[in-house]
Amino acid sequence: MIALARRIAAEDRAEDTGLLHPDDRLTCHVHGKWIHQCVASATHVNQVTRHRWCRSCATALTVVVDELGATVTMCCSRCGGGESAATTRLLAACNASISAARKGTRHLIAVA
Ligand SMILES: [Zn+2]
Ligand SMILES: [Zn+2]
Repeated sequence: MIALARRIAAEDRAEDTGLLHPDDRLTCHVHGKWIHQCVASATHVNQVTRHRWCRSCATALTVVVDELGATVTMCCSRCGGGESAATTRLLAACNASISAARKGTRHLIAVA
């Protein structure tokens, strides 16, 4: 949790100074979580940028998070597709946040 709080603060600063693009964040400043932990929330759907949005079906993509396999997948429940550049980038951030969260946990266990 401490690792997460630190990471959120660092990403907030980097984003404010233009060093980090919001799409590349591994944490979410709205929910205070790793991005893969809250990406299933409706807040992460954006019809304009097409993050988690299938334009052809006008539907939000369904998120499946496999913490054990460390993978996140998103697809449209209507057409099974719904890919977009924004969604691809969001998926990359989710997969990176799963590994970052794991590293944080391992570190905490090692310290304890
Ligand atoms: Zn969030
Ligand atoms: Zn669709």
